[in-house]
Parts: sequence; structure tokens; C-alpha cells
Amino acid sequence: MNLKIGVIKGDGIGPEIVTEAMKVLDKTAFVYGHTCSYEQLLMGGASIDVHGIPLTDGTIQTAKSCDAVLMGSIGGDAKTSPWYKLEPSKRPEAGLLRIRKELNLFANLRPAVLYEELKGACPLKEEITEGGFDMMIMRELTGGLYFGERKTVEENGVLTAADSLCYNENEIRRIAKRGFDIAMKRRKKVTSVDKANVLDSSRLWRKVVEQVAKEYPEVMLEHMLVDNCAMQLVKDPKQFDVILTENMFGDILSDEASMVTGSIGMLASASLNETKFGLYEPSGGSAPDIAGKGIANPIATILSAAMMLRFSFDLDKEADAIEKAVAKVLKEGYRTIDIMSEGKLQIGTAEMGNLIAGYIE
Ligand code: NAD
Repeated sequence: MNLKIGVIKGDGIGPEIVTEAMKVLDKTAFVYGHTCSYEQLLMGGASIDVHGIPLTDGTIQTAKSCDAVLMGSIGGDAKTSPWYKLEPSKRPEAGLLRIRKELNLFANLRPAVLYEELKGACPLKEEITEGGFDMMIMRELTGGLYFGERKTVEENGVLTAADSLCYNENEIRRIAKRGFDIAMKRRKKVTSVDKANVLDSSRLWRKVVEQVAKEYPEVMLEHMLVDNCAMQLVKDPKQFDVILTENMFGDILSDEASMVTGSIGMLASASLNETKFGLYEPSGGSAPDIAGKGIANPIATILSAAMMLRFSFDLDKEADAIEKAVAKVLKEGYRTIDIMSEGKLQIGTAEMGNLIAGYIE
């Protein structure tokens, strides 16, 4: 198979970590008989430097012509970078918001995996995390409270603000289908999170999720109220496989879940649309404080590339090979500085990429 991949290296540590992910992708493609062709795309500060704006129409068109896009991270130091003297619509982050909109990326996926080897970084008690955990938070990204009508009015000298949380059944159905599709590739369990005891939007959410579940008889569905889910994530994270939820609940729960896994350098993510197309990127930012030093952790980007193989190309074996190689390198005690602990071997960004690529089999 030829994989046509758009690559946004971006700013700060972006070029360093994406280079390592491409190295691992190339090795995986070589071992499994595929080829990767890359389209380099400029976005964020790198695009401002060349075109004066963070994302051009041409870049969007090229991204759309690819099967998937792999991204590093964009942005700089807001206090010192000249990009932040521009008006907000011309700053690096505006490119990110626009590309998500243009590509209709409505489903955000954030895996929260606790590797046995990194459990020292987990703030939870050992008896809770014994054996690690592996869940996927699937968050609706383009509807709900963040996109609903909002207003602030003043009546009789009293200010009142309102934001509306609105979903239609089609928006719920498309994300639910993606959630069940992803559960089929995993341990076949979906926990749909809502606040159906209070909110109408949640009651519709629950009804539509139940309809979709009928198309996936192999997947076990459970419903959980969001407040209970927030507790269960720290009480018993092992119970979760896929957590399916709306925009604001997902925003909060995905940050909570990622905090219990340890370093930001380990957190992959993906944003998908209705086709197989997706944008794959680490959850962290461009880390200007360590850019150019060769010490950034490339694992989140490498794991994002594995997600790309799994969800955009249906190459599950190849994705497994990358995830196993990451686990092997960690097991052997290699660490970048952000996940370093006593008695382990500290290595840099490129060495980490080389080791992981070397273990692809
Ligand atoms: P950040 O995630 O870049 O950095 C926070 C801390 O985590 C820093 O100490 C950094 O060194 C560390 N860190 C992050 N990724 C790491 C990695 N791979 N390896 C080792 N350490 C890592 O967050 P920030 O400092 O708030 O933001 C910096 C810039 O990134 C800003 O311009 C922000 O707007 C941008 N940003 C971009 C994205 C994106 O591209 N999707 C996401 C978040 C922030």
C-alpha cells in the first residue's frame, strides 16, 4: 500500500519529534512492504515566516489530497516570539483552528495508557494501577456548549450570561459510530458518558447511542454519569476501554485521564472526520523551552503515527508493531529527560527514534 501522508512539522520541537516519527513510519513501511510518500505542509509560525499567515488555502487543498496528516506542534513563546505581535487571527494557533474546521474533524481521540514501566510517574496508588491501564477517550469536537449560541445581557443593572448546549441526533450518531468502530478494534466496550439525569441534550445523546449500539452487537455498552466517571477515572481506571462523550465533558475527562498517565511527552492524539481521514498529533505543545536541544520526547508523535496506521489505513499489525517497539524500549530502561528516573539510561530525541525504529519487527 502507498500511504500518502501530509506532514506538518510545525514549530519549536515539532520538526525534531516529527522527524523521528517519520523514521519509525519508514521502517514500519519497509518491514511490512508499504511505501510512504510525504507532502510537507507549512502551518503555524513556520507558515507565517514564509507566507505571512498561519495557514494558506493551498496548504488546506494539499492536506485534503492526502490520506492523513501527521503534525508536530505549532506556536512559540507568547512573550518573546514576534508571531504574537500579530492580530489574533494571524497568530500560529489560528492555523490549527482553521485546519480542524476545514477538514471537518469532529471526533477527537486521546488514548490514556499507563505503561507498567512508567507507573512511577502516575499519582495514583500502586494497588489501583497494578498492571497498567489502557483507555481511549473519544470526544465530540465541533458541537455542544463550545459552539452553541452565547450571550450576555444586562437587565435592571444585573449582568446575565448564557451559553447553550445543543446537539442534533446526526451529530451524536456520527461520533457514536466512530466510537463503536474504534471499540471493535480494541476490547469491545464503550462507556458513554453524559448527564442524562439532568440535561435534555444528554437524554438525546443516550437514546442515539443506544440506537447505534444495536448495529454493534459484539460491543458492550454502558452509560455513566459524568460526575461518576470523573471519580471512576481515579478510583478504577482499568475498567475503561472506550469512553465516548460530548465536547465539554470530553475536554475535562481527557485532561484528567492524561494526568494519571504521567508525562505529556507520551500522549498521542487524533482528530477524525467522517471518512478515514485524520489529523494525528501529540497532545503537548511546541515546547519552546527545549526546542533545538535534541532532548524532546518523540514517543507521543510516534504513537500518533501508530494511531494513523490503525485508524486511517486499517494497518493494525503495523500499528501494533510500533506500540510494541515503544514498550520494548521503555522496558529496556531507555528514557528521554522528561520521563527519566533513577537507574535508567538517559537518551536524546534522535536516539529514541532510532531505537524504536530498530525494534520494529
Ligand atoms: P507545551 O506542551 O509546549 O510545554 C509544557 C511543558 O511540557 C514544557 O516544559 C515542555 O518542555 C514540556 N514538553 C512538552 N512536550 C514535550 C515533549 N515532547 N518532550 C519533553 N517535554 C515536553 O505547552 P506550553 O508551553 O503551554 O505551550 C508552548 C506553545 O505550544 C504555545 O505557543 C502553545 O500555544 C503551543 N501549543 C500548541 C499545541 C498544538 O500544536 N496542538 C498544543 C498546545 C500548545
